[in-house]
Amino acid sequence: MTRFVRCIVDGEPVYGVIDGEEVAVIDPHPFAIYQQTGRRVPIEGLRLLAPVIPSKIVAVGRNYADHAAELGNEVPTEPLLFLKPSTAVIGPGDPLRLPTDLSDEVSYEGEIAVVIGALISRVTPEVAEKAILGVTCANDVTLRDVQRREKQWARSKGFDGSCPLGPAIATGLDLSAIRVRTSVDGELRQDGVSSQMVFDIPRIVSEISQAMTLLPGDVVLTGSPAGVGLLNPGQRVRVEIDGVGALENPVVDRNAPAT
Ligand code: MG
Repeated sequence: MTRFVRCIVDGEPVYGVIDGEEVAVIDPHPFAIYQQTGRRVPIEGLRLLAPVIPSKIVAVGRNYADHAAELGNEVPTEPLLFLKPSTAVIGPGDPLRLPTDLSDEVSYEGEIAVVIGALISRVTPEVAEKAILGVTCANDVTLRDVQRREKQWARSKGFDGSCPLGPAIATGLDLSAIRVRTSVDGELRQDGVSSQMVFDIPRIVSEISQAMTLLPGDVVLTGSPAGVGLLNPGQRVRVEIDGVGALENPVVDRNAPAT
């Protein structure tokens, strides 16, 4: 298993692979044939960035039966797709800035994110699986009141900061047995396994590729397990996947006066 991270070294964003307590810098990036540059930096104190800035984020709604039920929705008969823009991405440790001017109900949704490694169009689940570079943690942050009010989800799920990603892209995980847990201020709120998905990961990626070409670095959010809930300024929200690490973000009000 390899864990790729993006981080700032000497003021420049670079990719690296985690090796023990260090990051070994690579050139050029995980989506090409790469080499280690020989530069190594301790992870301790390193500022990690979102591991990828995708051309697009394609997300699946209602892909866990228990989560569909908790919001009073039916399980779809084919994957329910929506898009989040690249400007939604923030990284590990970045403040999650609640748009309290738009919404009174901002919800976390801890999810397994897959990062696409190769260009694919109209492929089978078998080919789709081979095109996946690896897995990272995501938070599909949602303005629940806006989502209820509007048919399209561009505002409720696409606002700035609505897609924390990271901390690493882990390769070689068993896609049918990935456990994702979400906690708020240390209290466990969501605990799901990919085996509970309505549509499994290769099927989701295949279905998306029937409609739109996926590019290297594109990110697919695979749906949220049950246990979603609201966030308030001052809290810390954490999404964790074994083998990937923990994506933690402090929650702030973007409209609060600077202190
Ligand atoms: Mg979601």
